[in-house]
Amino acid sequence: MDDRRRIPRTDAVLADPRLTAAAATHGRPRVKAAVVAAQERARSGDLDPERVPDAALAALRPPSSLRPVLNATGVVVHTNLGRAPLSRAAIAAVVDAAGAVDLEFDLATGRRGRRGAGVEAALLGAVPNAEAALAVNNGAAALVLATTALAAGREVVVSRGELVEIGAGFRLPDLVASTGARLREVGTTNRTHLADYADALGPDTGCILKVHPSNFRVEGFTAGVDVPHLAALTRPDGSAVPVVVDIGSGLLSPDPLLPGEPDAASVLAAGATVVTASGDKLLGGPQAGLLLGTADAVECLRRHPLARALRIDKLALAALEATLTGPTPPVTLHRRLTPDAYRARTEAIAAKVGGSVVDVDGRVGGGGAPGVPLPGVAVALPAHADRTANALRAGDPAVVARVDGGACLVDLRCIDPDHDDRLAQAVLAALVVVGTEGRP
Ligand SMILES: *Cc1c(COP(=O)(O)O)cnc(C)c1O
Repeated sequence: MDDRRRIPRTDAVLADPRLTAAAATHGRPRVKAAVVAAQERARSGDLDPERVPDAALAALRPPSSLRPVLNATGVVVHTNLGRAPLSRAAIAAVVDAAGAVDLEFDLATGRRGRRGAGVEAALLGAVPNAEAALAVNNGAAALVLATTALAAGREVVVSRGELVEIGAGFRLPDLVASTGARLREVGTTNRTHLADYADALGPDTGCILKVHPSNFRVEGFTAGVDVPHLAALTRPDGSAVPVVVDIGSGLLSPDPLLPGEPDAASVLAAGATVVTASGDKLLGGPQAGLLLGTADAVECLRRHPLARALRIDKLALAALEATLTGPTPPVTLHRRLTPDAYRARTEAIAAKVGGSVVDVDGRVGGGGAPGVPLPGVAVALPAHADRTANALRAGDPAVVARVDGGACLVDLRCIDPDHDDRLAQAVLAALVVVGTEGRP
């Protein structure tokens, strides 16, 4: 039968409730034009006629070049895929904050209010032993603000074992140097002792900095100094030295599943003056930088002129507060998933697409818990693995899978179960592409 006879009429497509809803957002003329364009593609054989409504909807996406993807990599905090996906509560908070909000306004008095007060209260609720908190643009900004405010024109004392590069563009020595503080390196790459720090302290010391090396590890003959010992150090004149600890991943309290990962509450209890962290790694929130510490130190950071340049925007504030006070965020749910918790979903998709179910190891990602594998399961598509992965990325929705051991692996760990059907459709479509391409 002629495929073109299956192309739905314009009126019928426009009656689709999803397109009726789209008309309320985009206006009927734009929606109608999208439908006509999709019908045109179907007529030229470019599109399955049944997909005309879907294609019209896809064409009506908001005008951003950022395309949503299905993260089937098994890497929970995937830096190249936007790190933490937000919880539904956080997404709703972002939508609410998108318009006019009482960001710096007291509705009771009509006077000016303070930006970020809600997030600070939520942070102090989550980390009760912090005296004060401040949120900024990202983790790097938190570190820049802390070192600038505490040590500009003076020295930041750091172990040579912690002069790390963490992902693209974040080199600790360069970042500290950019603040106008001088880096005072102590110890060696593999071993730094308390005496190395003690010998370096003097009138010129601004702060001691300790950095969690995240995705980098030195093994074997190693030694470092822990926070309680650093916090007890003084300058030769007996004055206290602030200790800044960059924990990176944003774990606020200990997690038994991640025994090697530092957390804000424990580091503060150990005597740190200020802890810095990211909002969009293990915390599972939006891009943000967290600063927690003593009242004096945080006040000093808050008043520094640089704080204004590094300030957090209202959308991130809304999402961060909702993440801190709302339901368990996706990052936490995803990294705690056991193989059995998503085996049935994986088997269902494998059955639909003709793949097999294999055991795999997922990862926390984002520099968090690098040595901790996350046992999981995946759909293995062994034929033409690379081409299958390419076709998945090129599809709609785009699916990012992993090629390992000669198979394309589709891991549902980070897929919202509501998207399982879309994922199955996308895999089937990719297999068709690969099958077609494979024919002579
Ligand atoms: C990720 C990370 C940073 C940078 O944080 P961003 O939020 O990406 O700016 C800084 N320090 C450590 C230890 C990190 O792991």
